[in-house]
Amino acid sequence: MIDSHAHLTVKAYRRDLEAVLARAGAGGVTSILTVGFDMASSEAGVHLAEKCPDIYAAVGIHPHDATTLNLDALGRLEELASSPKVVAIGEIGLDFYRDLSPRRTQEDAFRLQIGLAKDLELPIIVHDRDAHQRTVQVLREESVSCGVLHCFSGDLNLARQGIELGLYISFAGPITFNGKKAEEILGHIPDERILVETDCPYLAPVPNRGKRNEPAYVRYVLERVRSRKSTPSPNRTPAPSSAFLNRPARPPSRSVVTPVATNRLYAFLWWHCGFLV
Ligand SMILES: [Zn+2]
Ligand SMILES: [Zn+2]
Repeated sequence: MIDSHAHLTVKAYRRDLEAVLARAGAGGVTSILTVGFDMASSEAGVHLAEKCPDIYAAVGIHPHDATTLNLDALGRLEELASSPKVVAIGEIGLDFYRDLSPRRTQEDAFRLQIGLAKDLELPIIVHDRDAHQRTVQVLREESVSCGVLHCFSGDLNLARQGIELGLYISFAGPITFNGKKAEEILGHIPDERILVETDCPYLAPVPNRGKRNEPAYVRYVLERVRSRKSTPSPNRTPAPSSAFLNRPARPPSRSVVTPVATNRLYAFLWWHCGFLV
């Protein structure tokens, strides 16, 4: 199992990160992607990933902090992304639920970081809260074809639009709260386009809802995804997310920013998105 979206560098783990990681390992979590949301968490994530073989990092500025993304910050993100452990740009996107930055600024920051991801040939991790249509519009206008709609909260129509663009759909704890909508969506998404995540320390899945979340709990999300698939497909990938580990990565035909061999997690994604063709 992979936790494809965690925030391991936040205060919530300051005291016991080692124990948290040990529980994840004991529970069968083989890799964790720790995702940046501002400059400090992006930097800390890269440092952590460089120390721990099974941890990977994504760097990016969340829409809440969109006002902090200037050209200097963009340059610093690019510098951080040169680490071989950085496998994506994120999380980036639009949040019209909390509106902590002006919407126009959020969109500018989103587009700038999409541009960075394209320059670096990295997938993006998209945060979209109450901004579904605008998010899809930006993704279309920027011709994004490689990335993940994380902590998916949209409807089937949005999932279909994401898949059409070539994106992955990632589910987190909320899928265990109320499965009705998710059930409908899951039945229509190919297994190989589904990822699971915790988005920890937030949104702990049932049976730990309300508590601090951690990567070991990704199994509850995965179990729910499996149980909600209306028609089991025996010939398909048996476990969402672990597909990344089971697929042989195509050897790079030209040099890329990040050596694929060390990036099991997103190697398939890159291959799938055609960056290495
Ligand atoms: Zn998010
Ligand atoms: Zn997150």
